[in-house]
Amino acid sequence: MKDSFIIIFDADNTLWDTNAIFQEAQFAILKDFQDAGWLTNFQSRLGELRRIDNLLMQRHRKNEYSFDDLVIALSLFYNQNLSEDIAVSLALERRGESLDSSTLAVVTKAKQKFFQKLEGIPNLLPGVQEVLNILYEHRLRNRNLATVLFSEGKAERLDPVMLTHNFKEKSYFDEIVIGQKSPESFKKAAQTVSFENEGNAPIVVVVGDSLKRDIQPANEAGFVTVYIPGGFQGNEKPKLINEEPNFTIRNIYQLLPILQKLGVSIN
Ligand SMILES: [Mg+2]
Repeated sequence: MKDSFIIIFDADNTLWDTNAIFQEAQFAILKDFQDAGWLTNFQSRLGELRRIDNLLMQRHRKNEYSFDDLVIALSLFYNQNLSEDIAVSLALERRGESLDSSTLAVVTKAKQKFFQKLEGIPNLLPGVQEVLNILYEHRLRNRNLATVLFSEGKAERLDPVMLTHNFKEKSYFDEIVIGQKSPESFKKAAQTVSFENEGNAPIVVVVGDSLKRDIQPANEAGFVTVYIPGGFQGNEKPKLINEEPNFTIRNIYQLLPILQKLGVSIN
């Protein structure tokens, strides 16, 4: 009996360039803080901002925390010259309560600009449209391939992106799953699709840009993993054995020969 295949795609920075949108929003905060006289040379400050952002992700245990905390932590870091750690701790402890009114005015304005910029629609990454079209054509002719989109992002942010790029209309995915990523949730995401031909267990291929969020849990679920480094995390090096991907690709086109090798008859 023919094998069946499920491809699970991560969304942010795998299919579309969320990083570019976030970067623009983050620069807006830095620019406002520069206008307030809290820092100079705002274009060179992204590294500092990203370190504070990272600390907040760790403290919140998710990538998409309440970003008010980011703006407040940055204001403490730049305006009060606190260390990154202390700025983050204070922001989480007291939120904005300790800020005086002139600081609060700058923070509020920066926050508004940040959230406004975040509403921008990211572009699809190069090749994504073409590869999804090829997979779509293949799925029409072969009932042994299914595609799933699995994201940790907030639905209210992801929906407009998919709408703008006509993802739902074009039926690029059999299922769209939103939730925290873990070995169990990857298995559940795979179980959302079924095949007429109930033969062997399907071969599941997971494609993502994060070793921690995508590759590690998918490895632990026993799936084939394809790592595609993106703009957000850059090219990560595996720190643990189970973060090691089966394949690393530089662009999404390189997924196609991997699928062929696994037995998907894409021409
Ligand atoms: Mg991602």
